[in-house]
Amino acid sequence: MIFAPTELTPAEERLRHEVREFLAAELPPDFRPGLGLGGRHDPEFSRRLAARGWVGMAIPTRYGGGGATPVERFVVVEELLAAGAPILAHWVAERQTAPTLLAFGTQEQREWFLPRIAAGECWFSLGMSEPDAGSDLASVRTAATKVDGGWLVNGTKIWTSAAHLNHFFVVLCRTSPAEDRHQGLSQLIVDLHAPGLKVSPIHYLDGGHHFNEVVFDDVFVPDDRVLGEVGAGWHQVTSELAYERSGPDRYLSVFGLLKAFVAEFGDSFDDVRRAAVGRASAKLWTIRQLSLAVARSLERGAAPAVEAALVKDIGTLYEQEVVEVLRHVAGQEIDPGGAGMFERLLAEAVQTAPAFTLRGGTTEVLRSIAAKGLTGARR
Ligand SMILES: Cc1cc2nc3c(=O)[nH]c(=O)nc-3n(C[C@H](O)[C@H](O)[C@H](O)COP(=O)(O)OP(=O)(O)OC[C@H]3O[C@@H](n4cnc5c(N)ncnc54)[C@H](O)[C@@H]3O)c2cc1C
Repeated sequence: MIFAPTELTPAEERLRHEVREFLAAELPPDFRPGLGLGGRHDPEFSRRLAARGWVGMAIPTRYGGGGATPVERFVVVEELLAAGAPILAHWVAERQTAPTLLAFGTQEQREWFLPRIAAGECWFSLGMSEPDAGSDLASVRTAATKVDGGWLVNGTKIWTSAAHLNHFFVVLCRTSPAEDRHQGLSQLIVDLHAPGLKVSPIHYLDGGHHFNEVVFDDVFVPDDRVLGEVGAGWHQVTSELAYERSGPDRYLSVFGLLKAFVAEFGDSFDDVRRAAVGRASAKLWTIRQLSLAVARSLERGAAPAVEAALVKDIGTLYEQEVVEVLRHVAGQEIDPGGAGMFERLLAEAVQTAPAFTLRGGTTEVLRSIAAKGLTGARR
């Protein structure tokens, strides 16, 4: 396991300041930062960000991307998340789908999807979880049957974030029965508006609409929308999950809350509040260094899956801890409709923070991955 300490270069620091200037101009002073789910879904913001070259940064220039390094992308994403910017529209496509297409997609798929993703015009959801398959993803039952020119898909996906707003999702499904559950799975790129596909909301605790159930009733997917190799879905989906872990989204979900706390109470800090903010900031800095080390090692061409799992584990537990500590030291009742930004963000955080350690793989599952990796028991 390698977490080699690394510093940002002067050029990387300059990039950070450019992003800060852009955000200062784009976001009004009373902007309410997004917490935890990658900010709000705002197509116009995504397009403006793309026009600056900050969507699809790490996509090669021949596909319309910025050809940037993982660390340059890290710097930009860190600023966007620290500001709670509304990046949900392009978030999954940029973070996860683009590198998966680069690794496994056909040339035709890359040429069609990647420039659209880099332009902030093509948005993806994730079609992995099912009613009986979350952590145990290999037990997915959504099935694709071969027909002339493509596949007919039947089954149900669940917890599909933003499926009601996005254009496509990559669906993990069973394309053949297999004795080994990890065989016979494939990934299909499915149009979220395809005939036979029904997207229904699953409302969040606070009434918000983020999740969906997606039901497939004989949905036709043409052969040219198979992502990668038929039957190689397990290998592909587990590689893809590495992009979902270790990034700044795993420790900055509540940064806006911390900032609002300091802004509103900073002048009247007692020792308890000062110590709480000091501890939270010191821990944040340490986790950030671990996450940055992962980005730097990706830049060198490594595949730090164990390190990524550990950063997600530590980072998301930290996020939940910040919510609890601030709730405690604030010492006030929480009113979701309260006057202050801190109060409103705290109410939102209290309701959404339990999910921080679930999305992208639960804490227990990540520890299992890390343990297997460290003891050499990983397949
Ligand atoms: C905010 C959010 C957004 C999400 N967005 C998406 C999305 O867009 N697309 C998508 O496909 N999914 C999405 N998910 C689903 C997410 O990936 C699953 O919730 C997650 O994988 C856990 O699966 P589960 O809910 O079925 O829990 P289960 O797998 O049923 O787990 C329940 C409990 O059992 C524990 N457990 C399970 N297996 C083991 C094991 N082998 N060893 C030890 N403990 C174990 C778990 O850690 C957990 O505590 C999202 C979830 C959240 C919270």
